[in-house]
Amino acid sequence: MADHHPSKADGARVLADLNALRAFGAYKTGVHRPTFSEPHLRSLEWLMRKLPEAGLVAEIDGIGNVLGSSAKAGPKLLAGSHLESQNFAGWLDGPLGVAYALEAARVINPDPGIPGAVEVAAWCDEEGHFGHFLGSRSYVGDVTERDIDSARDRTDNRMMRAALQAAGLADRRRVTAERGRHVGYLEAHIEQGRTLEGSRRAIGVVTSIVGIWQYQITATGEQNHAGTTRMKDRKDAGLALARLCVAIDDRFPARSGPRTVWTTGRISLDPGAPSIIPGRAEMLFQIRDDNPEVVERLEALLREIAAEIAAASRCEVEVKRIRTGRPAKMDDRFQRAIEDAASIFAEGKSVSMPSGAGHDAQVLATIMPAGMLFVPSIGGISHHWDENTDDADIVRGAEVFVEACRRLLAN
Ligand SMILES: [Zn+2]
Repeated sequence: MADHHPSKADGARVLADLNALRAFGAYKTGVHRPTFSEPHLRSLEWLMRKLPEAGLVAEIDGIGNVLGSSAKAGPKLLAGSHLESQNFAGWLDGPLGVAYALEAARVINPDPGIPGAVEVAAWCDEEGHFGHFLGSRSYVGDVTERDIDSARDRTDNRMMRAALQAAGLADRRRVTAERGRHVGYLEAHIEQGRTLEGSRRAIGVVTSIVGIWQYQITATGEQNHAGTTRMKDRKDAGLALARLCVAIDDRFPARSGPRTVWTTGRISLDPGAPSIIPGRAEMLFQIRDDNPEVVERLEALLREIAAEIAAASRCEVEVKRIRTGRPAKMDDRFQRAIEDAASIFAEGKSVSMPSGAGHDAQVLATIMPAGMLFVPSIGGISHHWDENTDDADIVRGAEVFVEACRRLLAN
């Protein structure tokens, strides 16, 4: 088959779409568009109005996913991202991937020279205001009615049922994937880190999305009077966890992988008064990596360190895993399509890299081949209203994305 002319995204149109979306919930230089807020619903309506321009039939479903489906013959590629934002955050995290998917559909779907069509999705609540990836997980059949019953907004405690009701979505069906319909799922996103900027690359080809392992670590000592208990007699649970944090940072690097990251979240001391030695202390701890073997190694080390600190602090230290990571491998053919497209539209300035952040693509990857491409984030800043990407990088990313879609449909 003769190769079709490369498909060209209209960069000005993509920038105009992104700026239109930016107006919904504009806050400083970013947006405040939490899930099911009024600006979020208006952004979904905007997309519903745009999808027919790409020959797509638009539907919003019972969990707030917007889907555009095509009646064109031939293979279908699913593409998208999300439109809600973190609270008081950036304008590109999510919308970039939706705008690219819309552009790919507008270029490819009316072209009789390209077989098949791009179908567009905006997954609801990727940012986790009500849960974890509720929209994309609903689409792959991984959300029950009970999950929705118990979901609440983490900021204002509003029940998800009430939010769906207020949005007029409560009586709609939830759309789930029609197995075998799609050749796969492609998502674009800002990198939200500094790898691309630091290496002067225009396109990141995502190899895998890291898994997240979470631990609850509890130290139990002896609660006592802070004035009368001599230092040598204390069993200070808070001190034990503080020592643990330092020991982790000292000893993890020797056994971690090249991209392993770890973070201590909330630390709470009980009772937490300066006049009382804490008898109990608890911390949340997280490890991210794309290789479960590395995390197994680190978890063993974590338990070893905890045992040593328990002995040294005369406290009990318990390590409990409360979440097991499931890294998602991106499909080889999708990675190649992005690289090939980057060789045409980005002078080959692409680099393979894992994603340290979670994305809907990891959920879609459980039922179909999936791929992701990144564009640079200025200063690596995201989840903040300063988040930004050069217009030239946005346009180049759109061109690479559209061409990658064409290639995935062509063979
Ligand atoms: Zn995102």
